[in-house]
Amino acid sequence: MVRKNAWAGYKETDLVRLEAIAKAYCEYLNNGKTERECVRTCVSAAQAHGFADLKTLIRQETKLVAGDRVYLNWMDKCFLLFVVGRRPLDEGMNIVGAHIDSPRLDVKQNPLYEESELAFLDTHYYGGIKKYQWLAMPLAIHGVVVRKDGAKLEVNIGEAASDPVFCISDLLPHLGKDQMSKTAAEVVDGDALNVILASRPLEGEEKEPVKAAVLKLLQEKYGMEEEDFLSAELEIVPAGEAREMGLDRSMILAYGHDDRVCAYPSMAAVLDFEGTPEYTLCCVLTDKEEIGSVGATGMGANYFENAVAELYALTKPYSELGLRRTLANSRMLSSDVSAAYDPNFAGVFEKNNAAYLGHGVCFNKYTGSRGKSGSNDANPEFMAALRRMMDAAGVCYQTAELGKVDAGGGGTIAYLCAKYGMHVIDSGVPVLSMHAPWEVISKADLYEAYLCYCTFLREAGEV
Ligand code: MN
Ligand code: MN
Repeated sequence: MVRKNAWAGYKETDLVRLEAIAKAYCEYLNNGKTERECVRTCVSAAQAHGFADLKTLIRQETKLVAGDRVYLNWMDKCFLLFVVGRRPLDEGMNIVGAHIDSPRLDVKQNPLYEESELAFLDTHYYGGIKKYQWLAMPLAIHGVVVRKDGAKLEVNIGEAASDPVFCISDLLPHLGKDQMSKTAAEVVDGDALNVILASRPLEGEEKEPVKAAVLKLLQEKYGMEEEDFLSAELEIVPAGEAREMGLDRSMILAYGHDDRVCAYPSMAAVLDFEGTPEYTLCCVLTDKEEIGSVGATGMGANYFENAVAELYALTKPYSELGLRRTLANSRMLSSDVSAAYDPNFAGVFEKNNAAYLGHGVCFNKYTGSRGKSGSNDANPEFMAALRRMMDAAGVCYQTAELGKVDAGGGGTIAYLCAKYGMHVIDSGVPVLSMHAPWEVISKADLYEAYLCYCTFLREAGEV
């Protein structure tokens, strides 16, 4: 069974749309290097498309009717969209979902120190990273500092051309004999991921003069004192914009494709939906997937269910049973990136069941590890329905497993949505160098993901 390369079938009109989506996606990435920045971008996009804030509708007890468009910003870290359908909610929704957190280095609570007249920020890595990849490259600081009085400072340093950037130093090879004999996991200790923040001492200061200079700068520029780090959420991410990649410009090199390359087209497909859908449409963009979907903003929390309950109560008298039916009767494309086949590391893939760059959106019937453990294994009835829909719409898709059996594995949010009893399948875009500071995707796969989500939202129904 051979799947075709998506580029082979494109006409001029396809290529124009493909490039437009790729461009809009790069802007989305550049404006959203953290989950909070992503949510802010999503809220503006939703408002521009005429979506109303669910919180306001709840307060005003506004009844919703078919065709109404609603968004919810949950804690500035999760984002939901709904388009109310013609059919009663109890008949289920067509849901697309993805996550908007990405692997990175988080700044610790008490992070600032001076050592040998250099000021450092101490970090704790977030998600599955290869620590050595984060050394000797330009880094930016993004996030928020919430002062004791509640005032929130937005931080974004290292992105504008005129901004300074930051860096974690690596050892020169000349002195690297011992280091080079270590395993890749041991080359850098987790606690050695210390970002160099400054090197210039404060004049007249005897004790820790560089740190003193940093504190003075923070006070002058941000009205921030050292204790304010206690209530900050600062993320260290690679500095720089998403770039077209390849002589043919067919790919995009960027930070955070996992999983914004699924989040963006999921959101765009709902925003772009014209008219009134048959079934209610939903897009859920969640946080904390990279650390196990935990916490109040992870898919394991109740915010999604609560939002659907609120929506339900605005369309008809609330009923617990009605909510359960709504969730159980729903269908979902739970999107997360797939490992693209890499000829440089062919040994960990099984060629017949691998995702290929440029072969379109990828369906993973199951993920998991060591015998599918932790996986959502989608039903073949649902997969058959998807095949019908995608083939009829001419969407280019492929299927894959996450590497060879027993090569490793991983999980997504799919199993958490599946617990409601809905039909869920993992889908998404293949990525090269997944979880590296700079990841690679094909523009064709992004385009096909968008077409896939549009088709699913329009066509999916009772399985
Ligand atoms: Mn992911
Ligand atoms: Mn990931």
